[in-house]
Amino acid sequence: MAVNGDWSDCGFLVLNAGSSSLKVALFAATGDEALLSGKVEKIGPDGVIQLKDAQGQALPVAEGVAEGDLGTHTGALMVVIRTIQRHFPALRLAAVGHRIVHGGPQFNAPLVITPDVMRTLEALAPFAPLHQPHNLAGVRAAMAAFPGVPQVACFDTAFHRDQPFVNDTFGLPSRYYEQGVRRYGFHGLSYEYITGQMRQLAPQLAAGRVVVAHLGNGASMCAVHDGRAVASSMGFSPLDGLAMGTRCGQIDPGVLLYMLDQEKLSSAEIARVLYHESGLLGLSELSNDMRTLEAAGTPQAQRAIDYFVMRAQRELGALAAQLGGLDALVFSGGIGENSVLIRARICERLGWMGIELDPARNAEHATWISAEQARTAVLVVRTHEELVIARSVRAVVGMA
Ligand code: AMP
Repeated sequence: MAVNGDWSDCGFLVLNAGSSSLKVALFAATGDEALLSGKVEKIGPDGVIQLKDAQGQALPVAEGVAEGDLGTHTGALMVVIRTIQRHFPALRLAAVGHRIVHGGPQFNAPLVITPDVMRTLEALAPFAPLHQPHNLAGVRAAMAAFPGVPQVACFDTAFHRDQPFVNDTFGLPSRYYEQGVRRYGFHGLSYEYITGQMRQLAPQLAAGRVVVAHLGNGASMCAVHDGRAVASSMGFSPLDGLAMGTRCGQIDPGVLLYMLDQEKLSSAEIARVLYHESGLLGLSELSNDMRTLEAAGTPQAQRAIDYFVMRAQRELGALAAQLGGLDALVFSGGIGENSVLIRARICERLGWMGIELDPARNAEHATWISAEQARTAVLVVRTHEELVIARSVRAVVGMA
């Protein structure tokens, strides 16, 4: 905690805990650049840690890290903390911000995690069984490491809480909506960052009808009007909508009944197919990685790319319809930010929506990639979810 409101020697951590990974960033009380960032991957016996400083130089981890220290989230966090203490001995850690995938219907803004909040987040685990328990493991590890330090939850669902009922519900008996079976939408921290960037880059467009395409290993699109979410391609789970690295995207629920009744698959087996064996990987039978598929040039890889592009075009059309038109399309995420080919393919044949790319600008990864005369702007904006969490932590704890 700051002494008399002086935060100058304080810093805070941003954590993103996945099933076998822990992404970390250390921020000072002010400034957008992380002092330290990195990740621990393959948490377990083969854990690997990579940390870098603000200049991108590799930072050696604290001395005395033994084999097995990266075996659990808590162990991995302790290694990070010891490394921070070694490189930033005068810094006091005043808060920890956490990326939490699910805030349920109730949490529409970042907040300090109290015991009550923690119980609610635990109760939401059945809504995001593959993500929420790992996020909360990160919270518990940080609580154990920093007793009494505020832990701030930032939700991937919060951005979407404004969307109207029709885009929040399924056509199921209404009791399911009451039980929390809703279209929550995800990647909300990314959408928050991008809408904020749009306000600076192009305030007039930001006040209008925008579709943001977050195309990474996980992929979704969000329709935004004047900075507020209207509809998302992702729904109850992060499976819906676009085809992804290994997730199926939109699917007829009849297929799940077929898997259950005819193939006699268990729910765990179905989950494995839908989450880990589908999408680009399932269609290509080669890779979940777009770079690999672009380089492969095989008919199967081509089909996977074609399907990815088709789904993106369909979702874009559907979301533009929800907005009553389109003023701007924004590409983001690993594929959206880097793939000249996929951006060009998605925008092909969308002249009727006013979309026309400038091929040279697209090839240069310029921020504005639409043609001069195009009615609809097309932009590329690099997302920065950690920075959204950092800003939220500062706001919630009253720092700076
Ligand atoms: P993310 O989950 O946002 O890190 O995005 C990962 C995806 O971005 C993977 O499918 C990568 O293959 C893809 N990606 C990253 N760089 C490129 C690139 N230069 N060209 C095509 N895809 C890329």
